Amino acid sequence: MEYRKLGAAGLKLSELSFGSWVTFNKQVDSGLAERMFGTCFDAGVNFFDNAEGYEAGGSEIVMGKALKALARPRDSYCVSSKVFFGATAEPLPTQRGLSRKHIFEACHQAMQRLQLDYLDLYFCHRADPETPIGETVWAMHNLITQGKVLYWGTSEWTAAEIAEACEFARDNHLTPPSMEQPQYNLLDRERFEVEYAPIFDKYRLGTTTWSPLASGALTGKYLKGIPEGSRATLAGYEWLKKHMVESERGQQRMQRVAKLQPIAEELGTSLSKMAIAWCLLNPNVSTVILGASRLEQLQENLAAVDVLPLLTEEVQARLAAI
Ligand code: NDP
Repeated sequence: MEYRKLGAAGLKLSELSFGSWVTFNKQVDSGLAERMFGTCFDAGVNFFDNAEGYEAGGSEIVMGKALKALARPRDSYCVSSKVFFGATAEPLPTQRGLSRKHIFEACHQAMQRLQLDYLDLYFCHRADPETPIGETVWAMHNLITQGKVLYWGTSEWTAAEIAEACEFARDNHLTPPSMEQPQYNLLDRERFEVEYAPIFDKYRLGTTTWSPLASGALTGKYLKGIPEGSRATLAGYEWLKKHMVESERGQQRMQRVAKLQPIAEELGTSLSKMAIAWCLLNPNVSTVILGASRLEQLQENLAAVDVLPLLTEEVQARLAAI
């Protein structure tokens, strides 16, 4: 495992990390999570991603139990949470968003669910048009000075919103965001590569990128229909099934996946591993957050680093063309 700096910050994260969206508390219980984390630690993974909104806080409870059972030294790994969506199915107005009140309370609740004394990384899960960016920057800065959060960042903010937060922090001598958490994979490149290019240059933000397999589309397993037990079959994720497979857009994306598959076969690897390794080629990626509903998937995905040397410039050009 290689370690990459989180942008301008001193923190070094493993280039592959592990997240819990959809899976924890739904497909993965704390026993399986413990085995998954054991596999991650053995492979050198040092960052685990979570959010208040995942399973209405249930994902953080599962992660907390598993990490506690493993009892690894707290200074050997990093844990994140994210604030915005709230930790209940129908949050009240004070229970969501990026107000000072919700950020403060959500941070304490996340620490409680995760059974941790501090969060290494804390993200604003989306931008909140109803809260001034300055209020959010102050709230995050205060959590850092209180020792409850070590690095704060954004997730899926526009480049203009990120720039506003960085400038506000600079003008008021506050802690600026250290990282963004955007989607990045072979099918979703625009925002990361085009919109964010100037802010990576100017503010040296790190990134913890999500959905390297586009929710499983880039495994190739949806090419012959929707497999039993896969993410697209889960109750509550009907929107994802439509988005990923059934819509016109989904079908167009699947046509691209069908063209990518033979290249992986030619290289003697799986499409999943090739797709994950491809994300690592971009130097603005600090860590690629993996997702897995089964231990075997995690084992396969962690082996993606072995595929990097196979992605020659010629292969990269073929992938880009698709
Ligand atoms: P992926 O795009 O890699 O999708 C992971 C899912 O794909 C797995 O749960 C599994 O689903 C399937 N899969 C993974 N590997 C394999 C394999 N080798 N063979 C077959 N199927 C496989 O990542 P996620 O979408 O899960 O995102 C990763 C993490 O990023 C999240 O856990 C979360 O921490 C973060 N994230 C952040 C977001 C944000 O807004 N900030 C948004 C989304 C994610 P199944 O078996 O059920 O089909």
